[in-house]
Amino acid sequence: MSTGYSPRLAQSGHAPVGSEFEQLFEAVGGQVAEVAALLDVPPIEVTAVVADDFRGEVERARASSEESEDYGNTRYNTDRLGSLAVAQTTRLTRDASRCQIVFDRTRLNLLGDPLTSLKTTMFVAHEMAHPLFFRLRAASGAVEASDGPVHPVDFARAITRNAADEMRCDIVADVVLQRMASLSTPDGQSRPATIADAAFSDGLRISIGEVLDETIYPGWPDLVDKCLAQEVSLDHLWRTVIYQTAEMLNLLAYAQVPARSADIPGPLEAEYAEHPGTRLYLSSTWIRILDAAADTLIVPLDRFRDCENELVTVGEAALLNMWERVGLTFGPSHSNSFHIYVTKPAR
Ligand SMILES: [Zn+2]
Repeated sequence: MSTGYSPRLAQSGHAPVGSEFEQLFEAVGGQVAEVAALLDVPPIEVTAVVADDFRGEVERARASSEESEDYGNTRYNTDRLGSLAVAQTTRLTRDASRCQIVFDRTRLNLLGDPLTSLKTTMFVAHEMAHPLFFRLRAASGAVEASDGPVHPVDFARAITRNAADEMRCDIVADVVLQRMASLSTPDGQSRPATIADAAFSDGLRISIGEVLDETIYPGWPDLVDKCLAQEVSLDHLWRTVIYQTAEMLNLLAYAQVPARSADIPGPLEAEYAEHPGTRLYLSSTWIRILDAAADTLIVPLDRFRDCENELVTVGEAALLNMWERVGLTFGPSHSNSFHIYVTKPAR
């Protein structure tokens, strides 16, 4: 199959990447290229590096990007709520015709036993899928606010878009795993491996519980009350809530595709259904986004714009509603300024 997706692995740092990883990269790249062809993704030049200095390499990619101004002077942050960044894909051009993937070498010493090599395959496939959706979004003309949003409405749209991409890349990773890896069953047969086999061992769903306890509830209403008592600034409040919303939605996105693949409910519908953070804030929000995503996450170029815009519009409304329950509403924007109203949070 001829495609316009032919990723190249470049060396960064002193130690060689290792032939095992090179082979994996090539095999996964071939699979992702087939998906790219099925979705009519226009040509993309993808370079990948395995970096000793992960953060520095991502910052170099961002500095050389046409979108470098969107990143401003903020340093690339590798800390995630409940997880750690292990790879990052950057658009080098606005149309995403050139992208760079950086893998963190310290997280790649994983090939070896079957489970860890399954996980490595999953996360390499996931990351190699990101350029496809950047490219589809740009080429289809789906409305794209910058990665440096200002107004909370733009944040809500960006948060939805990013969480959707995490699910899209996991769906591709699931397909790749099923084609590339198999597991033996207790009766001595073998079956294709799925993303559920690779993802559940890493405690992702436990992390979601920790974030619910430590950050969402009573964290959010307490923070709003502190702002009302003038103990923390309004700026700190809304930035914190928006940042934590983005992180939580990404975690929920990471849990979603493995759950669907194993045909079990997601964490908010199962072990955390009764958590106040779920009941008061997250559950209805996330369900609205999932309902809108339904089976329209992976669509070809000619459908991508409409599906994406519909999803992002639903996500915007769902997140603004959620922030309202948290106690934050936002007035209209006039150039770069807007109003924030703080009221008692739902408890
Ligand atoms: Zn991702």
